[in-house]
Amino acid sequence: MSLGRIAKLNTGATIPLFGLGTWQSKRNVVKNAVKVALDAGYRHIDAAWIYGNEKEVGEAIRESNIPREQLFITTKLWNNSHRPEDVLPALEASLENLGLEYVDLYLMHWPIAFKSGSEAVARDEAGKLIFEDVDITATYLAMEKLIETGKTKAIGVSNFSIKNLEKILAVAKIVPAANQVELHPENPQWELLEFCKAKGIHVTAYSPLGSTDSPLIKRDEISKIAAKHNTNNANVLIAWGQQRGTSVIPKSVTESRIISNFKDIELDQEDLAALKALTEGKAPHRYCDPKDFWGIEIFN
Ligand code: NAP
Repeated sequence: MSLGRIAKLNTGATIPLFGLGTWQSKRNVVKNAVKVALDAGYRHIDAAWIYGNEKEVGEAIRESNIPREQLFITTKLWNNSHRPEDVLPALEASLENLGLEYVDLYLMHWPIAFKSGSEAVARDEAGKLIFEDVDITATYLAMEKLIETGKTKAIGVSNFSIKNLEKILAVAKIVPAANQVELHPENPQWELLEFCKAKGIHVTAYSPLGSTDSPLIKRDEISKIAAKHNTNNANVLIAWGQQRGTSVIPKSVTESRIISNFKDIELDQEDLAALKALTEGKAPHRYCDPKDFWGIEIFN
């Protein structure tokens, strides 16, 4: 495994297996984080309109002077822009924020439509979410039209289960290039990974370290493997994802971590078996579940 490890998308383009996440990266520090990452050799940045920091992410990208074609930039369509007529304007708003002519991958962030409009998460007076009656297939078909605009090189989805992927595939002219989902040894989603592989859909692992303040990264089983390879726990989790063929997009705004995360280690069969054993006989655990923040079930 080399630092420049890549996968091929079904469009023929390549996607680096290592990228920088930017969710919860505050606006006053994210520009530096992206700059440090690009200096360290990262070539894949994961953004989203809802993260509220595309402008600073874009500034760091543009100021790096790295030729645009050497970078892989992803951003995402927010849930308040699922109506077909809202899709192109939403991409254009992200491009304006980023200061870029195009992104490499545009993802439908969640398979759920919130009320269209300026509010990101519209709620009624009782605090209940207001949804928009738009099916994910209608949104996806509108996303397909983005390809001919040249404003995104590829389209894909995020947080899609097999069931929702099947729904999309039944109508799609363009197979999604990628599905970005939560993946780490406590939530390995082997079946989804196999399904995507069979359909030619690349998978990107989000929250690969177990997200903010996660107990996952501190687990003894991970520390033991890290000690064996004379490395740190984050590197074990990142290598696990890459060795499954997924892109891995750990977020950090800490310079030393951004640099140390971008390291090449190779787990052996014994390590992989130990990591697989973490979920044996147990239900998988998600750290990013809309049940917890929107009170809605997305995955089952
Ligand atoms: P993550 O990357 O699993 O974990 C980030 C946390 O780990 C931060 O608190 C970070 O702290 C810390 N960290 C980073 N490197 C570390 C290291 N070497 N040692 C110890 N701690 C370390 O979590 P995530 O942000 O949830 O997921 C990654 C990215 O995936 C996001 O940023 C976003 O781009 C994407 N994502 C997408 C979705 C989606 O719905 N599509 C959902 C969630 C995430 P510091 O920053 O303080 O260093």
